[in-house]
Amino acid sequence: MRKDTKNMLGQRFGLWLVISYAGAKRWTLLCECGAIKEVAGADLRRRGSCAGGCQCRASVALRFWSKVDKTDACWSWTGSKNDDGYGRFRGSNRSLMSAHRWAWLDSGGEIPPDHELDHLCRNRACVRPSHLEIVTHKENVHRGDMPSILVSRGYPAAPRV
Ligand SMILES: [Zn+2]
Ligand SMILES: [Zn+2]
Repeated sequence: MRKDTKNMLGQRFGLWLVISYAGAKRWTLLCECGAIKEVAGADLRRRGSCAGGCQCRASVALRFWSKVDKTDACWSWTGSKNDDGYGRFRGSNRSLMSAHRWAWLDSGGEIPPDHELDHLCRNRACVRPSHLEIVTHKENVHRGDMPSILVSRGYPAAPRV
């Protein structure tokens, strides 16, 4: 049997399950959300973007959490980060957003206008919702300045835990 017609039936790629051969070296995949698509066998074997392409919530969440290293304390983002050290994630609408923002919204949190998320653990790569707090922009800037203010007054800059 030739390589590109190798039987892929029943194989899983993320949330995709190969459910039938579509002919012409292509396979029909079913996502757990019910979405169906056809993918060339060669693309499947490369396990490239074709295998992870569903934009349903479950698929996006699976992709997100595969990039997170959960410890007893922080849940650290292992994917790409911006220059400030915040994780970056391309969500279901394909736009880049902060990883901790995504985690917050996915856990049911809201971000009202003029509010931001502050890392209580001071670890910018952390995406653990319980380590985040909604604050106003003003409060966030104020908190960010606190360590230097304290140090200038003779206090040690102890990290907030
Ligand atoms: Zn899906
Ligand atoms: Zn943390």
